Amino acid sequence: ENSMAMAKNTKNQYIFFSQDVHQQLLKQAKIEQALHYAIENNEISLVYQPQLNKQYKLCGVEALVRWHSSELGFIPPEVFIPIAEQTGLMPKLGQYIMNKSMNEITVLQHKLSTLFSLAINVSVKQFIQLNFFELLMQSIEDFGDKELPLTIEITESLFIESMDVLLPIFEKMKQHQISLALDDFGTGYSSLSMLREAPIDELKIDKSFVDHITENNIDKAMVKSIINMGKNLKMRVLAEGIESLEHAKILSKYGCDLFQGYYISKPLNIKELEVYVNTILKKN
Ligand code: C2E
Ligand code: MG
Ligand code: MG
Ligand code: MG
Repeated sequence: ENSMAMAKNTKNQYIFFSQDVHQQLLKQAKIEQALHYAIENNEISLVYQPQLNKQYKLCGVEALVRWHSSELGFIPPEVFIPIAEQTGLMPKLGQYIMNKSMNEITVLQHKLSTLFSLAINVSVKQFIQLNFFELLMQSIEDFGDKELPLTIEITESLFIESMDVLLPIFEKMKQHQISLALDDFGTGYSSLSMLREAPIDELKIDKSFVDHITENNIDKAMVKSIINMGKNLKMRVLAEGIESLEHAKILSKYGCDLFQGYYISKPLNIKELEVYVNTILKKN
């Protein structure tokens, strides 16, 4: 009944669209078209943002996708990831990201004989596709290394899906020592019930909480409480969006385990990451 009403109304609704919405839809269609082309034509690349522990030792990197479209210029992931999800392109893009990041990081680690973990962001649609876990295993076999510690970052939006679907996947990940990180913690609405129901290994405190930690007492108290809660639940706690030494100092005082943000390093392409890792290895 719904879809009939929609079909009948399409023309009328179209008339009601403001110019803005119309432009927006056109742009979205353009992005979708260009995205098909992008995956085939090497326009998608990855950058890696270092994650340090309390001793300022590199313990991991987060892979972040970049798209420089020959036609549309730079498009941020926050714009094209949702479009890829809506248009069914996410499994393919997600697979590409998984393969490429494992390959680049494994090659680098072999070259420098060092080891640190790789965190990969996985969107809802990608995570619940039927063979997600099998594809992940295949990717490790083809491009990765059994030694490479892996973390899968998910967001709270994943939990609109039924636990019956999610838990078996979490279980299999656990059996293979693949960590589960809850990204952007604190921004969703179901944060706490999620912590209760899913085997989360790492909490990533959202940047929006870290931003005003130096001057806002409420934010300070919240971050402190999140860290304590994470520790009580035996989870690692990582703070993202660290932009100053002050941020790092306060978080460190509260017992935060891991640090990520522009103050430590911006996301780096694989060549820049090699220079970064080399510098750190020389210091140690
Ligand atoms: P996220 O996973 O929470 O990633 C953190 C974002 O914060 C990244 O933006 C990173 O560049 C930025 N960031 C890190 N440190 C700082 C800082 O100190 N200051 C500021 N202002 N920003 C900082 P980016 O790369 O634009 O990614 C945005 C979001 O897009 C990500 O949020 C993630 O949800 C999504 N995304 C990125 N790459 C992928 C991917 O490969 N797959 C999926 N599914 N989503 C991705
Ligand atoms: Mg992330
Ligand atoms: Mg985040
Ligand atoms: Mg985010």
